[in-house]
Parts: sequence; C-alpha cells; structure tokens
Amino acid sequence: MVEKIASRRVERLSAVKGMNDILPPDSSRWEQFEGKVRLLMQRFAYENIRTPIVEPTALFMRSLGEVTDIVEKEMYSFEDRLNGEQLTLRPESTAGVVRAVVEHSLLYNGGKRLYYMGPMFRHERPQRGRYRQFHQVGAEALGFSGGEVDAELILMACALWKDIGLSEVALQINSLGQPKERNQHRQALIAHFERNIDVLDDEAKRRMHLNPLRLLDSKNPAMQEVIEAAPRLLDFLGDISRAHLETVTSILDANGVAYSINPRLVRGMDYYNLTVFEFVTTSLGSQGTICAGGRYDYLNEQIGGKPAPAVGWALGVERVLELLKEQGVASGGSVLDAYAVIPDVAALPKAMACIQQLRGAGVRVLMHASGPDGMASMKAQFKKADGSGARYALIFGDEEIRHGIVTVKALREGGVAQVTQILDNAAQWAESLQSNA
Ligand code: ATP
Ligand code: MG
Repeated sequence: MVEKIASRRVERLSAVKGMNDILPPDSSRWEQFEGKVRLLMQRFAYENIRTPIVEPTALFMRSLGEVTDIVEKEMYSFEDRLNGEQLTLRPESTAGVVRAVVEHSLLYNGGKRLYYMGPMFRHERPQRGRYRQFHQVGAEALGFSGGEVDAELILMACALWKDIGLSEVALQINSLGQPKERNQHRQALIAHFERNIDVLDDEAKRRMHLNPLRLLDSKNPAMQEVIEAAPRLLDFLGDISRAHLETVTSILDANGVAYSINPRLVRGMDYYNLTVFEFVTTSLGSQGTICAGGRYDYLNEQIGGKPAPAVGWALGVERVLELLKEQGVASGGSVLDAYAVIPDVAALPKAMACIQQLRGAGVRVLMHASGPDGMASMKAQFKKADGSGARYALIFGDEEIRHGIVTVKALREGGVAQVTQILDNAAQWAESLQSNA
C-alpha cells in the first residue's frame, strides 16, 4: 500500500532551461535512429568510443580556440569545489576523442576510425533546433591523411540520410588550406575589414585582428555584404591543398553525390584545415545545419600527442529528428506483440512463468499489473489491451490456469481469431506471436 505523505506542499522542480526530457513515445524514435547509426557505423567499420562528459577546461580552450563563440560565451565551466579543478561540460566531442586517443596511444599501429553519440552542452539562447543540452552523433578518422577518408566520411553521412529516409539535404564544401596559406589570406582579410570598418559590429571589430576568419562566420545581416566581398581563402590555396580538395570532390562525383563549393564556409572552431563541409537544409529556419565537419590535422599535436592527421563530422540528433518529422517520414509502428490479461492475482505465479518463457523467446509482452484493490475487471483489462497496440491478448483466466492452458486472442485483423495454447510450452508457440511474422 502506498501511503500519502502528510499534507505538506512540496514545491515542484523543473528541468534546466534549454535542456529537454526525451519522453515516450518520442524516445522510441531516438532509439530507432540510434539503432540505424550503429548499423551504419558497423558497415563502415567505425568503432565506438565513449569519453567523459566533463573534461578539463584547458582542453577546450586549447583546441577550439580562445576567440570562438563556444569558448567565449557558450561553455558550462566551473570549479570543482572539492579539489579546485577547472572543469567544463563538453560542448563538442572531437577534443575529448583526440585527448583519449593521445592518452591511450590508440594510433600506435596505424589509423583508427571511431564514432560516438551523446549529450553536449552549450549555453546558447534556446530556440527551435538550438538547445543547451543537445545530442550529437560523431565520427572521427584519425591517422589518415588522404582525401579519400574525407570522402568516406561524407559518403557515410549520405548513407545515413538514405537509411533514415531523409531527403533534401544539401552538401556544401570548402577548403581552409594549410596554416601558411591561411596566414596569407588572413592578412588580406584584415586589410579588407579595415577598409570596411564602419560596417562591422563591436564583436567583429574586437575579433578582426585576433581571429579574422571568425568574422566570416558572423550571422549579422548588416555585415553580409562585406563578408560576401571578402577575399576568398580558395584563391590562396597552393597545389597540394587544391589536389586534396580535388581528391575529395572526384570521389563524390563518382558516387553521384551533389555538392556545392561554398568559399565562405569556415566552421566555428579553429582546429580545422583543408576540407570543411556542412549538410544544410532550408526547412529548419536558421538552424539549418544538421551535420558538419572537416579535417583537423594539427589537433593531435596541439593536445600534446605526436603529429597525426585526422578528419571527422558531428550531426545534431535533435535537428535530424525534427527534420524527419517535418518531412513526414513515418517511424515505428507497434512495438508490442502481446498484452497479458490476468483476471485474478492468484493466477500471477503461473501466468508470469509463462510470460517469462515468451519474453525469453523474444516475444514483447506487456503484463497487466494489479492496483490497491487487486486486478481490474476483464472489461477494463481488455480496454487497456486494445489501446496498447498489441496484436494479441493472452488470457490467463482461472479456468485456463486449472487446465494448464492460455487463451490467445487476436486483437487486430490477420492471424487466427482465438486459440488455446499449453502454458508450459510457451517457448514453442512464441514464434507465432511475433509481429512481422
Ligand atoms: P550552428 O552554426 O547552428 O550554431 P555549429 O557550427 O555551432 O552550429 P557544430 O559545433 O558544428 O555546430 O556542431 C555540429 C552539429 O551539432 C550542428 O550542425 C547542429 O546540427 C548541432 N548543434 C550545434 N549546436 C546545437 C545546439 N545548441 N542545439 C542543437 N543542435 C546543435
Ligand atoms: Mg553554434
């Protein structure tokens, strides 16, 4: 019996702003999506990696760049008051993956292809497609320098869109070249922004000399014209960088993948070089980027490891699922095979022994549970069974139990309307209850 807590009023607490509960039945869409991701990663031979959600703050300062949106204003950073450590809830996972790869010398005998999924944290203004806790699936290939691995990652994302039934995502690509080429471009960029200083907002003025590439990432409409007219990094690329981009695009061409070269695409972190790319849609308003990535050949060194090339992407799970909903892609269907109707608590031991056999054989069974007054009426239980979406009701009545049988009744069209089965042999008739059978 559940007793009521004395009449004290307890104040209700809610979730932190911008951080969502993912509830049934929506959570089943998440599980389906995650299942498809796992199968995809297996097909492409990417192995799972799980790193902590909390990392030393210095890791992100060093890797993402100090003059970036994330580090300047979006990180959940705090001091562990028990030992004074400076910590941050991860805003992304590439830095943590590289840290783990360096720490455990994962590249000692060649490259590694890794993937992860999990929550990320950024203190942004919550809106559709933009949350403070959100989820990413990411793939990282470390120790490979050839453009064919950039292409493999892009093809893998395209395969995922196909697996989940997503259409109308456009691929944009750019090359950020190598540090030397970027430096030359940087000088040209600063000169261009100095000529147009009147149009720049305060943030742009502050960042102009620190990190002028970041200005290209600005969403301020007043600055778009100046950004449009800025010198293009593509024009500063040398032969090797051009050839790398050519490797990637020729593989995409051979695979029939449509893309456009966007010379303004710079990405929000400093660690990228050569290939960068984004998958974009127009149907989620300004939160249109669902997946983004690129090459980061210098990050390993920056985090204290040996030099090792790398490339990867991350996709926003909330945005992908919202886009699927938008495009009306159906999901799921019933996940229940049978509903166990149990008229009397006395039948529970025998009934549950049978249900246990069924579940052991893979049948999905929801069992009616008793309330304070025992079991509900048959009528009430059948109503629940009908509403559950199950294909069959299993009736464990007194009469049945006495004869060692159970009545199996079809709740929906198709299948035999009503049969009896032997209680003890549940494993043998389990197959006939499974949906899609
Ligand atoms: P945006 O330009 O939309 O802020 P971003 O460049 O900051 O994106 P990345 O750091 O590249 O995003 O992260 C990869 C993906 O993660 C994004 O393309 C997006 O789908 C998703 N994402 C990023 N930030 C959020 C957020 N706050 N809420 C939900 N999804 C997000
Ligand atoms: Mg952002």
